[in-house]
Amino acid sequence: MKIIEYLINNYFAATILVVIATAFAMIMSANVSGTFNKYNRIKSRRGCPAHKIARQILDSNGLYNIEVTRVGGNLTDHYDPKNHIIALSDSVYDSVSIAAIGVTAHECGHAVQHSMGYVPIRIRNAIFPVVNIASRSWFWLFLLGMLFSFPFLTEVGIVFFALAVVFQIITLPVEFDASRRAMGTISAQNLLDDSEMKGARKTLSAAAMTYVAGLMVSIAQLIRLLASSNRRR
Ligand SMILES: [Zn+2]
Repeated sequence: MKIIEYLINNYFAATILVVIATAFAMIMSANVSGTFNKYNRIKSRRGCPAHKIARQILDSNGLYNIEVTRVGGNLTDHYDPKNHIIALSDSVYDSVSIAAIGVTAHECGHAVQHSMGYVPIRIRNAIFPVVNIASRSWFWLFLLGMLFSFPFLTEVGIVFFALAVVFQIITLPVEFDASRRAMGTISAQNLLDDSEMKGARKTLSAAAMTYVAGLMVSIAQLIRLLASSNRRR
């Protein structure tokens, strides 16, 4: 707590913290691409394409209503709960690689979370409308408060930013749980053998680290906002 107190009262140190966190996030982002590319070159022995694996996992969970589609781009794979779609990227959809199967099982994990009403997802859905408004408006409130020396506005801006940070915190268990479910499914349905599972796990861990790094950047930014409003006083 002493260190946070120090940072809040030292704008320069808080700025350095933001720079360090951002550099860490960039490294983690490069790491996920590198790990994915490495294991996307290794074909699984079973040789079943990712979109068929997705269908198999969904059906085994009774999720017949969820469609598996293709989406452009790289590492753009996601689950769309509104339209009940698992979207697999071009590099995953037809792939039989260890990485593609890991990513596919992870996205199916999100579909299962939604279908069973996983608590952190329900919390996230409940606070989303507020967080959405807060994350669009915090900067303007903060800026106006600083420009016109109106500390109340600045403080509301900072609280709004903190709400977005809370949302990022709740996203962490959602992501870790989807990967845990993915590895469980891969093992239970024999989608990969033991040595192949290592590669899938590394791919999913690298992806999870980008969420951790993103949260660290936001926390550093929050500290810096507090430091800059303190400096004005
Ligand atoms: Zn995810």
